[in-house]
Amino acid sequence: MVSPLLIRGGSVVSVVTADDTPDTPLPRDLELRDGVITDPSGGATEELDARGCLVFPGLVNGHDHLRSMLPSTRRADTSALADVIEAGQRASVVTTPADYRALTALASARQLLSGTVGVVDHVYPLHRDGMLQAIVDGHADVGLRAHVAYGLLTAGPAEVLSSIDAQLARAVSAADEVLPADRLYLAPVSLRQTSVDGYRAAVAAADRTGLRLYTHVAESTDEVEQCLAEHGKRPIELLHDIGFLRPGTVLVHCVQLSEREIDLLAQNSVAVAYCPSNHLKLAKGVAPVLAMREAGVRVCLGVDGMTDLFAEMRQAVYVQGSAARRPGALDTQAALRMATADGCAALGEKSGWLRPGDPADLITVRMDNAMLAPLTDPAYALVHRGSGAAVRDVVVAGEPVVREGALVRADLGELIEHAWQATRGIAVRSGRQVPSDWSWQRFHAG
Ligand SMILES: [Zn+2]
Repeated sequence: MVSPLLIRGGSVVSVVTADDTPDTPLPRDLELRDGVITDPSGGATEELDARGCLVFPGLVNGHDHLRSMLPSTRRADTSALADVIEAGQRASVVTTPADYRALTALASARQLLSGTVGVVDHVYPLHRDGMLQAIVDGHADVGLRAHVAYGLLTAGPAEVLSSIDAQLARAVSAADEVLPADRLYLAPVSLRQTSVDGYRAAVAAADRTGLRLYTHVAESTDEVEQCLAEHGKRPIELLHDIGFLRPGTVLVHCVQLSEREIDLLAQNSVAVAYCPSNHLKLAKGVAPVLAMREAGVRVCLGVDGMTDLFAEMRQAVYVQGSAARRPGALDTQAALRMATADGCAALGEKSGWLRPGDPADLITVRMDNAMLAPLTDPAYALVHRGSGAAVRDVVVAGEPVVREGALVRADLGELIEHAWQATRGIAVRSGRQVPSDWSWQRFHAG
């Protein structure tokens, strides 16, 4: 049970008001009780002094793979998407539940420390007993609120594959056992890695169980051409024909879309997770975010293995403005909304407007941060100059999980050490040459 908490003395920014007009920061105290915001009652037993800080809704990351098994090296400079997928598949063969937990916990810490309170973690393969539990434990180690998109695969190394029915049975049995059903998606990985029959089986399981659907799609021109050649349809048209498009479904990427496909997304109330830095890094093209938003498609932001949502917000503004040859074609307010309220709505969560009755998910941001000061327009500063370095405190469901820039539930140094050991172990078991002193201490002075 989390004690009632008073957030005192901060300037509250609620992003956008319910009628979508810009809000200005207001000095206001907030009481957090039973996971929601209330008016201060005088009954809070704990206090968080937010003087000198903006109080801001927690950010929401609509797409990531927190247990990334590939070390960040310059080899990634020239890696095409197919190389990344293949390297990930090779590493997954030797990965253990303990590796997943260590890697997930560190990446979850990175989310919280950069102001992200909620995420969809798309995980696969889940080929050993205990892997899903290890991932859920990794989120909980630091207090991140995570939805899990349970990856379903029909292609890849034989060691990690099982029948689609067996995978679906395991996914369905995890609902309300390993994590709440409303935080679990059935998630064919992509048309490259999951057969159309696999997608059909996921749709049938969703019909039976009420679980929601999630996938990567329309990511590259190669994917579209292959889909046309094999099925005579574009990817979104194909998903529509098999019943995958429905309210609650989240589609990741949607870079290569026809006008008809945008209409299909809107007509079927599908949400899209847009990952601008990932699209730039892997030269996928520019997703038609302006056209999707205009058609009424809900678009949220995803980090997808890059850095954090502050970077994604400004990338979204810059890329969309650049593609439209019009600065601000996607403006600051829209980017903020995509990273907060639209992210919550895409995941079926109540939006965090920071009003009484809203979820107690918030962050405080230091106004004396060198990149933000002098702070004349908080929204502009956060989107165009913000970073995790300015985030001081993070509260998830009323529980402070970062205070004064430090994790509350875990020690960051230990998480880094465990993630180093996991990465090293995966490399060694994959047959790579690893220096005997390859540890994080090697880079410490002294
Ligand atoms: Zn992804």
